Amino acid sequence: MSTTNAGAEDAPWVDGNALAGPLGEIMGADFTVAELTCAGCRTTRPLAAMRVFDRAPGLVARCPHCEHVVMRVVRTTGRFLVDLRGSLVLSLPVPQ
Ligand SMILES: [Zn+2]
Repeated sequence: MSTTNAGAEDAPWVDGNALAGPLGEIMGADFTVAELTCAGCRTTRPLAAMRVFDRAPGLVARCPHCEHVVMRVVRTTGRFLVDLRGSLVLSLPVPQ
């Protein structure tokens, strides 16, 4: 899986695929097919469409439409912390 920053070499963010690895490790599911509903603008988009800021401890995902923080993921010693306060719904397809 690769992440991009939409062609902007100096953009401070990558796409939401950067979240799929850590979330998959935590929950054992494929998050590349997840969708997230932003609590700020109430729009539902693929997780991959979120803008992920990864130049700090942990990952901070923002909505590409309203820039609301929709998710924070931090790995500490022995624990993952996932903050979903900025999201209304995180949905995944049922595994076949
Ligand atoms: Zn939004």
